[in-house]
Amino acid sequence: MIEFLSLKDVNAEYAVQLKEACARVIDSGWYVQGVELATFEKRFAQMCGVKHCLGVANGLDALSLTLRAWKILGKLQEGDEVIVPANTYIASILAVTENGLTPVLVEPDEKTLNISPALVRAAITPRTKVIIPVHLYGQLADMQEIQDIAAEHKLLVLEDAAQAHLASIDATPAGSWGDAGAFSFYPGKNLGALGDAGAVTTNDDELADVIKALRNYGSHKKYENIYPGVNSRLDEIQAAMLSVKLNYLQSNTGSRRVVADVYMKGINNPLITLPLDKKTSALTLESHVWHLFVIRCEARDELHQYLANAGVQTLIHYPIPPHKQKAYSDWNSLSFPLTEKIHDQILSLPIGPTMSLADAKVVVDACNSFVGRG
Ligand SMILES: *Cc1c(COP(=O)(O)O)cnc(C)c1O
Repeated sequence: MIEFLSLKDVNAEYAVQLKEACARVIDSGWYVQGVELATFEKRFAQMCGVKHCLGVANGLDALSLTLRAWKILGKLQEGDEVIVPANTYIASILAVTENGLTPVLVEPDEKTLNISPALVRAAITPRTKVIIPVHLYGQLADMQEIQDIAAEHKLLVLEDAAQAHLASIDATPAGSWGDAGAFSFYPGKNLGALGDAGAVTTNDDELADVIKALRNYGSHKKYENIYPGVNSRLDEIQAAMLSVKLNYLQSNTGSRRVVADVYMKGINNPLITLPLDKKTSALTLESHVWHLFVIRCEARDELHQYLANAGVQTLIHYPIPPHKQKAYSDWNSLSFPLTEKIHDQILSLPIGPTMSLADAKVVVDACNSFVGRG
């Protein structure tokens, strides 16, 4: 069986260094908010081309604490509207509702599956305060256009970069386009911890200062609490794991691109629509980091089963759109036809930094031999 992604294989590559780093933290006697976190934050900020990186407990908190900090800074009020993609992972929307803000769902561009700038424009009302573009599957949303819209309407931009470490447009990386960027280091992400972790990136000193306090009980100074904060710290062991893996992020991304290239060049089944890789655009230089390789097929469930029988594990990201989830039952009757269609057609092929070319070719052959029930 070709696994969708083997985290065991991914981390086995660095087992010696990870164990050394772990031992270093154990022996240090210092386990939260220490030198490991500071070191990782500095390097990750540098990689993203921003002044500040603030480690937090996970990607959802990175989104949520940014919105919370903007409320504290008087830039947002409860009930303000936040534009989010209708076809995102539910975390992007939970961060909004968790803060008493109102999500306004917007359909994607049919080709890129990222949020449609034209529809963002159409969704703006006097209550709109924030746009959350999600760089879905590892390719940046149309950030030039979104930044223009935001400037025109004086909106804040919070990038959900949980799937887009190192992705860029014209050498401007994810997490440095908007007023802030939110990253996840969930184990399966392109830069994955060995547990949960996340980070906010920003050039805004004031925002960085508030998030730094918020993640630690609203406190800059021990036992002095200036905001009603939370406990959302990125602990030293995870920061040390991330520092090891950060050394290989570039080369791992290269390995993902090699697999994606084999798929892009090899899959030629008319029943399958390949993802759009915008790097072919003549105007901009875009780099996709292939967190997921998502194909579309009208007979998706049949293809899914067919590939499983051929020994290829595939997954669906995601089977149920947020507005059809029980958690948001008030929205269940809303209609987002494109989002609903996408969720019925998408299928994620195996991809990861340790995947062999031989396995990628097996996947290509399996995809090409699918004929469906006709
Ligand atoms: C993974 C992910 C998140 C949430 O990250 P966690 O670390 O799991 O909280 C948010 N948004 C998107 C698009 C994601 O893929």
